[in-house]
Amino acid sequence: MTEKAKKTAKEPPVYSLIRASRCYNCDAKQEPGSIVKFTPGTDEREVRCRKCAQLDELEFLKSGNAKVTQLAKKYSQRVIVVMQWSELWKTYERIGLLVETEAIDRIEKELKIQFENRESKQPH
Ligand SMILES: [Zn+2]
Repeated sequence: MTEKAKKTAKEPPVYSLIRASRCYNCDAKQEPGSIVKFTPGTDEREVRCRKCAQLDELEFLKSGNAKVTQLAKKYSQRVIVVMQWSELWKTYERIGLLVETEAIDRIEKELKIQFENRESKQPH
């Protein structure tokens, strides 16, 4: 595997819930909109919360801005696509990415913008 291939090695997508669920592993309640890991086509109750899936160090970045997406891929070592089921299209749609918090910090600085409702800036 070349160095380039390694960096862009893809992690499987994760999913934003459209209805409440529970983590199959730790039983934590997952509200709609929570990002979880599961394998479509298998039992959809077998979701893993972000903590159990080891995704809690990553931050959600909404899609919609090509420049931001491009920079996120450049700056973040880990980039995971976040999908959400669309009742309208009856398929999964890409709604954003999970990337490293530092990558988002860097993008904010570089583009002189500030993302609203950042997860890492919210009180716990
Ligand atoms: Zn869990």
